Amino acid sequence: MSTHRLPPPPSALRGRIVVAAVAVGAFAAAGAGQTIHALGSNSPAASDEITPLANASEGAAAFGVGGTGPASPQVLPVAKTVDSAAEAQKLVKSLQITEDREAAEAEAKRPKFSHPAAGSFTSGFGGRWGEMHYGIDIAGPIGTPILSAADGVVIEAGPASGFGLWVKVEHPDGSVTVYGHVDTYSVYEGQRVRAGEQIARMGNRGFSTGPHLHFEVWNPDGKKINPLTWLNSKGISV
Ligand SMILES: [Zn+2]
Repeated sequence: MSTHRLPPPPSALRGRIVVAAVAVGAFAAAGAGQTIHALGSNSPAASDEITPLANASEGAAAFGVGGTGPASPQVLPVAKTVDSAAEAQKLVKSLQITEDREAAEAEAKRPKFSHPAAGSFTSGFGGRWGEMHYGIDIAGPIGTPILSAADGVVIEAGPASGFGLWVKVEHPDGSVTVYGHVDTYSVYEGQRVRAGEQIARMGNRGFSTGPHLHFEVWNPDGKKINPLTWLNSKGISV
């Protein structure tokens, strides 16, 4: 009897595999008129050690075919024995495929861009009070969650001249988003963040005339561009 060994399944699948293996084992036992060693706690999930019945007539009786003479081994449907290990292997594979597909679907559905904060738009990008305003301002109560506008890596989180405290996130295309005047931040340099993930809370630190988020977008060349245009191009309206 060959001994099939399954590759160790990912832990998330284990519970489901054991259930599947037990079901397969029961099916094999019923179908083949054979007993299957109980799965020990340390057995591989799909042990296929099958022990034929001690004698053929027992098997025939179990199948209700009657007969008194010593049956030849051919009367037992052994040839049709379900290879439980192979069946379990197929189940493992299909569960794995299903989980991979579900993960890929969730990833595809996940929003890749996010509005950085709820609040009122109070100031746009461009000349203001005789000087250039390099971002947009979104005002709201202190503590309003500030969310990363896109997937990326935190490249700075801490004090910044004029902004009090800021967080900067670099995105895969090399662009950077800046979140200024934050009251508190909850990320660290080097941390990966996803679009919509909270990174800070709105504050009134630095040169600020009221609680708001100052939000900037730097293109991959480091040039500060209009965040409204950038957000709109990503399907986010402010
Ligand atoms: Zn501003």
